[in-house]
Amino acid sequence: MRPTRFCAALALLGLLAAGCPRPEPARISTGAYAERAGTVQSNQASRRNNGSAAVLRGRVVLYHLWAEDAGSSWTAARQADVQDRVRAAIGFLTRWARTYGIDLTFVEEAAGRVRSASDLPTDMFADPIWTERLVQSTGAADSSRLVADLKRRHKADEVLLVIHVNKAADSYNLAFRAGVHPAYAAERIVCFSRYPDQRPTCAASYAHEILHAFGAGELYFPFDRTDERAKRAGHLFPNDILFRVDLNLDALNIGPWTAYRIGWTDHLDADLRALEDEN
Ligand SMILES: [Zn+2]
Repeated sequence: MRPTRFCAALALLGLLAAGCPRPEPARISTGAYAERAGTVQSNQASRRNNGSAAVLRGRVVLYHLWAEDAGSSWTAARQADVQDRVRAAIGFLTRWARTYGIDLTFVEEAAGRVRSASDLPTDMFADPIWTERLVQSTGAADSSRLVADLKRRHKADEVLLVIHVNKAADSYNLAFRAGVHPAYAAERIVCFSRYPDQRPTCAASYAHEILHAFGAGELYFPFDRTDERAKRAGHLFPNDILFRVDLNLDALNIGPWTAYRIGWTDHLDADLRALEDEN
């Protein structure tokens, strides 16, 4: 079945959202994603070293927006719970950066709670213009100027906007790449507090989405028409956080392909090039 609405949005913006796996057993079947996405692939190599979250090194600002609408809001307790998970994700990422000899420091700033005039969509293929409007409702002229301001104030190398929505849905990223409207060079992830089955979104999913914004691709290849690459990646990297997420962060790692995509290494072994969409 051809998903007309999704394709129209993608054609308009040249933008591709990519979702995030959930911990077992609630993981989405890759077939469902492939059907929704049509022929579009999620794993574009051109995402590497692009946008406001280009390489995951140096001083990195996470700018949190706690989005609310008429039907959803944040309680202090729920917000604190999510903050704990984000901190666990940050801990995971900085630990793994060290093992690759990478200097990485996260700085967090929050816009606070931001009320959206329209309903916050849970569909990752909704027109992402709502994220831009949300940024502007904080008083920022636009997301590009917000990023420039954050970089200057924090003497930061990279900036990622983190939009939190207190709804049950699959979190996703809006990573910038060639062909995407320049408004989205200010990279952002949309993090729902719960999975569609109502379980809280785990720390690994926050780390997974942050990595996407910095250029990491799905290692379970949800948009492929065959399972060839997913099988290969599962064999090579069964515990890579871009292949699967887990309630236990310590069970996961960041393997050489993901490390290459996020700028921790500049070398990609020839046998891993087959995982890239564009060689
Ligand atoms: Zn993902």
